[in-house]
Amino acid sequence: MAVVELSELLARGVRGRRVLVRADLNVPLADGAIRDDTRIRASLPTLRRLLAAGARVVVVSHLGRPKGVARPELSLRPVAPRLAELIGTGVSFCEHCIGAEAAAAIERLEDGEILLLENLRFHPGEEQNDPDFAKALTEHIGVFVNDAFGTAHRAHASTVGVTAFVAEAGAGDLLKSEIDHLKAVREPARPLMVVLGGAKVSDKLAVLEALAPHADVLAIGGAMAYTFMAARGTPIGASRVERDRVEDARRVMRAAEQSGRRLLLPSDHVVATGLEAGLPTRTVTTIPDGYMGLDIGPETARRYAHEIAGARTFFWNGPMGVFEIPEFAAGTRAIARAAADSQAITVVGGGDSLAAINQMGVGDRITHLSTGGGASLEYIQGLELPGVAALER
Ligand code: ADP
Ligand code: MG
Repeated sequence: MAVVELSELLARGVRGRRVLVRADLNVPLADGAIRDDTRIRASLPTLRRLLAAGARVVVVSHLGRPKGVARPELSLRPVAPRLAELIGTGVSFCEHCIGAEAAAAIERLEDGEILLLENLRFHPGEEQNDPDFAKALTEHIGVFVNDAFGTAHRAHASTVGVTAFVAEAGAGDLLKSEIDHLKAVREPARPLMVVLGGAKVSDKLAVLEALAPHADVLAIGGAMAYTFMAARGTPIGASRVERDRVEDARRVMRAAEQSGRRLLLPSDHVVATGLEAGLPTRTVTTIPDGYMGLDIGPETARRYAHEIAGARTFFWNGPMGVFEIPEFAAGTRAIARAAADSQAITVVGGGDSLAAINQMGVGDRITHLSTGGGASLEYIQGLELPGVAALER
């Protein structure tokens, strides 16, 4: 099964038609000001193609978690002028997303014009996937385009419900690019090398369980490595550990072993007596009592980098250490560099991992930077995403 692509919708003709675009304009705001417009920029290609083809574009999104009530501080209004600036044409804004005022604003649109509606999550019907709300959203709409991959793992009115009420539905360029690249990890050119790190086993247990039998090599770093080391009975000193996840870690290791896959753990560590900058650090192969592992050591970084160099597909999620503190950033930087140098298809996901890639300025040497968060991890596990399934023909 494949999703209907934007090109197909454009080929059938969208001039003069009202197209509802579900975008992800969930930008970080501080006192009404946009702190980072990455998500607005990422939505531009799909919007530009639709406008150039003469569509009347109606953009909807969520912003934050208003939980079904109108909260002025979570209004999408500040996004309209920024979107206008970036896209190079006026963007009108309506302070409702359904009802008479929204309908009037939609009816005023001319070919090649664009309108932004208010935050979908001001209505409880959005997250409840209420058919009445979905119907109200599509009252004057003929075509639906979903470009918000980050919410595709949720069956909401604007990701699933609306598709029942439009003549045609398809995937925007951003959503399509996420599926294509994440599919390259689901159905990889082998060997597939995966590096998972970050704070907690509990955050990533589902992805660990799915990838342990799937990846040719699964290498673990970050704080979660210490729960795995505890499961193996290796000394971890005062490192962060989730005692209640040790059994889960054991199960993940067993799954890898039973499938004939390799699961790698750190063999050296950068340690300190606390999680602060400025404390003396040591590189050790056995973590002494009273010390915390705060980064993978140089030998581990070399081992992991060697596997990355030999892979044909590489997926990375989660930093190798407390990379926010320079003393503990070398391991994460080494993985980012190895990914950039690799000839493999490289896919990196996760807020902190992407921050590390951007910090190093190697983003343009990675095949795909996945911004889908939880949706990306679910897709990689092989789960069907309701928002994607709804766009399949
Ligand atoms: P991502 O956002 O890429 O998915 P996570 O949110 O899972 O990554 O994890 C990132 C966090 O994990 C960072 O804040 C980092 O400081 C923390 N972390 C990584 N290694 C350790 C460690 N050894 N001890 C404590 N925290 C760690
Ligand atoms: Mg994070």
